[in-house]
Amino acid sequence: MRDRPGQPIKRFLQPGPHRNFPTRVCRKIYLLPLGDVSGAPAPEVLTELLRLWFCLEVELMKPLPAKALAAIERDEDGCGYGAQIECPSAQKVIHAHKPRDAFIVIGYTMEDLCNSSSGFGFLFGEANLDLSIGLFSFARYADDVPRSSPRFLRRCGMVLCHEASHLFGIKHCVYASCVMNGSNHLEESESRPFALCPVDLRKIQLTLDQAKVNGKDTPPVDLLARQRGLVAFFDAHGLVDDARFGRGLLSALTGEPEPEPAGAEAAAAPLPEGPSPPEPPPPEPPRPLRQLSDQGLKPLVTRQPSGLCAPEMDSPTRRPAAQSPLAELAAPTPPPVQRLPSHDKKLLAQAYASPLPGRIGPPRTRGGTKCIFR
Ligand SMILES: [Zn+2]
Ligand SMILES: [Zn+2]
Repeated sequence: MRDRPGQPIKRFLQPGPHRNFPTRVCRKIYLLPLGDVSGAPAPEVLTELLRLWFCLEVELMKPLPAKALAAIERDEDGCGYGAQIECPSAQKVIHAHKPRDAFIVIGYTMEDLCNSSSGFGFLFGEANLDLSIGLFSFARYADDVPRSSPRFLRRCGMVLCHEASHLFGIKHCVYASCVMNGSNHLEESESRPFALCPVDLRKIQLTLDQAKVNGKDTPPVDLLARQRGLVAFFDAHGLVDDARFGRGLLSALTGEPEPEPAGAEAAAAPLPEGPSPPEPPPPEPPRPLRQLSDQGLKPLVTRQPSGLCAPEMDSPTRRPAAQSPLAELAAPTPPPVQRLPSHDKKLLAQAYASPLPGRIGPPRTRGGTKCIFR
């Protein structure tokens, strides 16, 4: 399979051109509406999602001038969804307008995408790590659902987070059902949970903790606050199943059962008729994910626009326990980096056991993918 054997954290942490860090100067994620995006979810909603997902500043970029838009190459014949934007051409144009303080720029469009030179007749999205530019399309997401529906937002939000995660150097996931699984079609794409598995969450966490965009006083990533923010986002936008799934992850992080919101409890309450069945024993609360030691990490190498690698940032130091918002979750003896929560299969299964059919089981990666990551 094309996505095998995956990208273990050990390999992800090795210095090299696959790593991409925000810096004190280039620290912002920019979201760029490309052309007419009136049918897309509100840009404020998308920027909020990115901010919660990556714990970085996110800014909406001004639309590109008409001259720049006109310079983008298109395949006029298309593939059933009108003329298609050629991704490499669009990425070059976006790169030419990349703001100076941008870590990455993520463009989105309501036009269909393709990459003829690579033989892809259509693409959900393409991420170019060399340019730190991602581009994705919502053109195929409203065929069977209204554009005002939570499902449409879910499709758009998932591809957004997927492509942007590629720009952190994270490859397709083969470890669990995860938003970073590769997908060949919409059904496969939708069957993924709107969440990162522990392996990929750890990659984001390590990248941000090592980058220290606010200098040495940068607090470590607060995984609990991140997850709570995402659950609140899902609740606010009608993504009920994703909110429930997110609460399961919160439980895994805290070791405590996460209460459903009042409305959800009322909706799930059994009808008061007939003899009530015997109450099942309360489920065991999941064990908390443990914070890992940063000891043993190699000095960082950050990616330069030229493609060359140059040491730039301070070597990571061990995180002071007193400053960590998850300090109370830390194991008495932090496990070595090789022993990650993701390697605890029982915990992984527990945290990612989903109430939705079709979301449990091995990741669905097959040869070929409709998402190019280079
Ligand atoms: Zn994953
Ligand atoms: Zn991908």
